[in-house]
Amino acid sequence: MGHRERAREFVADVDRTRWHDQALWFVRSKRDQAADLVPDWEALRDQASAIKRSALTELPELWREFEEHATAAGTVVHWARDAHEHNEIVAGLLRDRSVRHVVKSKSMLTEECGLNSYLEAEGIEVIDTDLGERIVQLRGEPPSHIVMPAIHLQRAEIGELFAKEMGSAPDLDDPTELTDVARRDLRDRFLKAEAGLTGINFAIAETGGFVVVTNEGNADLGTALPGLHIASVGLEKIIPQQKDLAPFLRLLARSATGQAITTYTSHFRGPRPRSTQELHVVIVDNGRSQLLGRPAFREALGCIRCGACLNTCPVYRRSGGHSYSATIPGPIGSVLETSRDPATHAELPHACSLCGSCTDVCPVRIPLHHQLLAWRGELALSGHHPAWRRFSLNLVAWLFVRPTMYRLLGRFARGIGRRLPPTLREDLLPAWTRQRHLPTIPKSSFRELYRERQRQPKRPRPQAQPRPRHERNG
Ligand code: SF4
Repeated sequence: MGHRERAREFVADVDRTRWHDQALWFVRSKRDQAADLVPDWEALRDQASAIKRSALTELPELWREFEEHATAAGTVVHWARDAHEHNEIVAGLLRDRSVRHVVKSKSMLTEECGLNSYLEAEGIEVIDTDLGERIVQLRGEPPSHIVMPAIHLQRAEIGELFAKEMGSAPDLDDPTELTDVARRDLRDRFLKAEAGLTGINFAIAETGGFVVVTNEGNADLGTALPGLHIASVGLEKIIPQQKDLAPFLRLLARSATGQAITTYTSHFRGPRPRSTQELHVVIVDNGRSQLLGRPAFREALGCIRCGACLNTCPVYRRSGGHSYSATIPGPIGSVLETSRDPATHAELPHACSLCGSCTDVCPVRIPLHHQLLAWRGELALSGHHPAWRRFSLNLVAWLFVRPTMYRLLGRFARGIGRRLPPTLREDLLPAWTRQRHLPTIPKSSFRELYRERQRQPKRPRPQAQPRPRHERNG
């Protein structure tokens, strides 16, 4: 099923569509308020964007520097070409240490690599410890949002799920009580885990350290208790210096949820001191270096996964994250997933109204709607459009370079269209007119109207009167 069909299923539930839209718009509004309180917000965006752009031009040097400093601090660095290599490295580390229980904090990269199912096939239990991730894990579905993975669910649905899976009261829908139930259930799992897996928000070349941001502190607990910490990181998540962190940390939480800062900003550099803990970092390419070689799309690698473009997108808000059938939904997902697998995701760049709101809110100034438009062109040229779209675009292209034919056909279509009863006209375009009416068909074309106007005698333009002095500079 494609995006269109899945979106149709989502909007069939009118109530869910309405509150999903409102919940995300509420988060978007909080982002606006938080941004308004920072006087140098636009300068921060410029700074973050410049750091990312510059880092993308020197990734090999930065990662070599990171590896050198991380190794000196006792971290073991691994390199993975693709998702399979990443999963095999992680599984190998766990296998060698006879690990059977793992706790994991939120990481879109491990979602992208399908790590959970890979480890489960090896007989290793993986427990997602971020509350939203845990909810979707128990439901056996992927996250629907990169920051709020269970935003598509209502409290009552979560109460039912917890009653079934954790034995809580069936009518529980108070958020604090639901969180307590999940916390009690997770506590034993934290204690039992022999390894903790995390993602990385920012790797720092200068120090060989990295930063993980969470709101629940689950990454800290998950890595403080077990003797093994494995952190997976995409090739693009590196910044040159420690001081470069500041603009990103100021932008990230405000753009994501409207908070001034995330509750936990955890810095890691080498294994826990005075312990036998091991720290491994797995650096993953999985198509990123290919994207880096495409100037029209490479800036998408600057994404800091704040989710602001999802929250503002009118299509995402009204079609839900699962309609994208992709690890990362919304505008940034439509760029990244299409780059990774154009044949599977060719529909996504068309799931966009090109309103440009995503570009307006992106803290690192990724020109998302320009990239989505560019993808449409690429997909057309590489033959990824369905036959009906190829045929209609070729027909339009043929017609647009034949002005006489264009005029004749226009006159013919206007003549026929004006004679048809309005209801029949709308029946001929059922998908277009399901939620809107066709405009009245004009008698003349724009050219004819223009020519007619040119023939009319010119009326003198009214002279602008100088404004009185006291009205100026108002
Ligand atoms: S593309 Fe920009 S707005 Fe969207 S998630 Fe990434 S950083 Fe945030």
